[in-house]
Amino acid sequence: MKIIPSQKHIYSFSGQAQPVEEVYPGEQVIFETLDALGGNHKTIDFSKVNPATGPVYVNGAKPGDTLVVRVKRIELPKNGIIVTGKGFGVLGDEVEGFHTKELEIERWAVLFDHIRIPVHPMIGVIGVAPAEGEYPTGTAHKHGGNMDTREITEGSTVYLPVFHEGALLALGDVHATMGDGEVCVSACEVSAKVVVEVDVAKEEIKWPMVETSDAYYIVVSLPNIEEALKEVIRGAVWFIQRKKTIPFKDAYMIASLCVDIGISQLVNPNKTAKARIPKYIFSEV
Ligand code: CA
Repeated sequence: MKIIPSQKHIYSFSGQAQPVEEVYPGEQVIFETLDALGGNHKTIDFSKVNPATGPVYVNGAKPGDTLVVRVKRIELPKNGIIVTGKGFGVLGDEVEGFHTKELEIERWAVLFDHIRIPVHPMIGVIGVAPAEGEYPTGTAHKHGGNMDTREITEGSTVYLPVFHEGALLALGDVHATMGDGEVCVSACEVSAKVVVEVDVAKEEIKWPMVETSDAYYIVVSLPNIEEALKEVIRGAVWFIQRKKTIPFKDAYMIASLCVDIGISQLVNPNKTAKARIPKYIFSEV
């Protein structure tokens, strides 16, 4: 299995980035990742956070396709770190100074003093080269990026729209656990080892998606959370309408009955909303 070492990382997603490895559809690859702070534990500079290991050229991926990334395994270390401070997170104007705290990671729990928080390994940054220009790895958009979405975990499949030949996949910013919202600006940030299987689907999507055993998620990241929420609802209704070939109004009503709208994170330059579409609506009985 090919290994992409953590020294090979990028701080922005761009079509100009030089691939560090190439893989074929169906191949598994190991990404060794650095934590979101990339070793700088003194402050947060959004132009230099979330180093993403890669990019990897996926043979056969063409603009208009969808890159399929199956998350096979996330191996966590024994320690992680959480940071916050003045100006950071949702309540950044209510906190003084800059604070870091090391967190011990056990098999099933992250320890904050004597509180045991269940381990929930997840990939914070996963993306491809965007359609135009470059996006810092701290910013999420249509190409993926810093989506900080809890559902991007072991056993999930991530779908990313392909804009450039080879897609140019990079990932990093693994969290040992995180709550929806990521309110203080960071999670239990870790360096990790991630095993994924890549594939290419000849299908076009507008925004990243995540598939779990029982649901599909649309993931939308925009500067304003209200716009992101509206766009993610639109995405969910379109998805239901297209997959079931039913009128918009019916898909809209089904969404109202069973789609859960949520927030992945509220603290990055673009905010991320998600819509959970249960799979049972697609099984005919
Ligand atoms: Ca992040």
